[in-house]
Amino acid sequence: MSGQHVKYEKRNVHDKQLFVFYLSVFMQPNPTLESGDPDSSAVENPTDISRFDQLDLSPVMLAALRKLGYETPSPIQAQVIPAALDGNDIIGQARTGTGKTAAFFIPILELLDPLRQCPTPQALILVPTRELAEQVYQEVCRLAYGCKTACCVLAGGKHMRRQIRQLQEGTQVVVGTPGRVYDHIQRRTFKTSRLWCVVLDEADRMLDIGFRPAIEKILRACPKDRQTMLLSATLPPEIQRLTKRYLEDPVHINCSSTQVAVETIEQRYFSVKQPDKFPTLIKLLKREQPRQAIIFCRTKRGTDRLKMSLDRELRQIPQLAKLRLACIHGDMNQRDRDRVFADLRSGKLDVLVATDVVGRGIDVSTVSHIINYDIPLDCDDYVHRVGRTGRMGREGIAFTFVTADEGPQLTAIELNINLLLERDSFEEATKSAPAEEENTNVVDDEPPKKKRRLFPAKKKSNDRLARVGSRR
Ligand code: AMP
Repeated sequence: MSGQHVKYEKRNVHDKQLFVFYLSVFMQPNPTLESGDPDSSAVENPTDISRFDQLDLSPVMLAALRKLGYETPSPIQAQVIPAALDGNDIIGQARTGTGKTAAFFIPILELLDPLRQCPTPQALILVPTRELAEQVYQEVCRLAYGCKTACCVLAGGKHMRRQIRQLQEGTQVVVGTPGRVYDHIQRRTFKTSRLWCVVLDEADRMLDIGFRPAIEKILRACPKDRQTMLLSATLPPEIQRLTKRYLEDPVHINCSSTQVAVETIEQRYFSVKQPDKFPTLIKLLKREQPRQAIIFCRTKRGTDRLKMSLDRELRQIPQLAKLRLACIHGDMNQRDRDRVFADLRSGKLDVLVATDVVGRGIDVSTVSHIINYDIPLDCDDYVHRVGRTGRMGREGIAFTFVTADEGPQLTAIELNINLLLERDSFEEATKSAPAEEENTNVVDDEPPKKKRRLFPAKKKSNDRLARVGSRR
């Protein structure tokens, strides 16, 4: 499907209902405003934007959104779309499941030149994994309904020759992973001279994976006078350094994942000894009977081992024997990874054992349970793992197994999300009922500092102004 002129794909009504629920939950409070980077301007959610026709979009775009059943812009959309249409560089703090793909892609679609006028890529969307590239591509296809848009995916694990052919045939938008995209740039099969927009989606994860050198080389190979949008659930110092170097006077929009996780996802922990982890997991699965669960492990080998142990053990337990299991990690080939994700999405899988790298960014709204079999070493990974559930307003629950020497990690996570996790145990008979024992870790209760500024007047380069002007 990649590389063809994109066609409208029918969305199901179910997603729409979920989104309406999501909005009812998230449109109430304004997103937290970030003081973070002193060089960027924080923007408050313009809560008066409740319809897409308030966003100065073209009739074709509005028709496409209607066709998709998108009625109300999500908070990240209500803020990113106007700022991006004005040509600003953007730092957007949001996780997947909040409508962020449409937030950055609607403005791109509005400003794309027709293929016959410019057959070399105009917009580049960099994502951390092949799966996410495919997912973003699907959303791009849906949004491009009604306007012929040529888009291709440049991700590893797929045929190079096919990608080169797609680029030669003419492409307006490229969605890709940094390694493969840079490979094409080096071979000169991907010409960057006409790129006017670069999106770094899930930027924090791209850096975690080690894509920083490739990202920097790509950005240096792109025209200086481009628009850059960086989307990230978290803004660790390394990301802030990147934004200082490669973004120009960015508008900072914060609909951060922390807030979402705290609001909709119940989060608990089990205090366990290392040898008791597996029996605890079995008891938990028995008690919870999850609709769909992702169990996170730290290592690829640990993931394989746990999957094998579960395969053996679950067969012996009548109420769990029917659970369909799979595992996923970076050592698996692309075809197997694609199959596992397709099965998860279609509901053919009940339990997925995964490492962080591949578990990230995947938009599967039916995941009801997250189990951190190994507590993540990095606080940001916690936010991303937990964000795999509670998507688009659905309820979710996350459990974290903590051994005695992992107490400081739990405290660090709690400080990071500004929430005390409830302690759970099997002494409590009721399903999902919290144990009475209190977690004594300390949290910083102070609310984040607010910086209230609404889309400040900005100095824009001539080229960007011309692009914006030609649209109006
Ligand atoms: P994302 O955060 O981009 O992964 O989007 C999550 C899901 O929400 C996708 O299935 C989108 O198609 C859907 N979505 C995005 N924006 C809207 C909207 N305004 N109304 C309804 N659904 C939406």
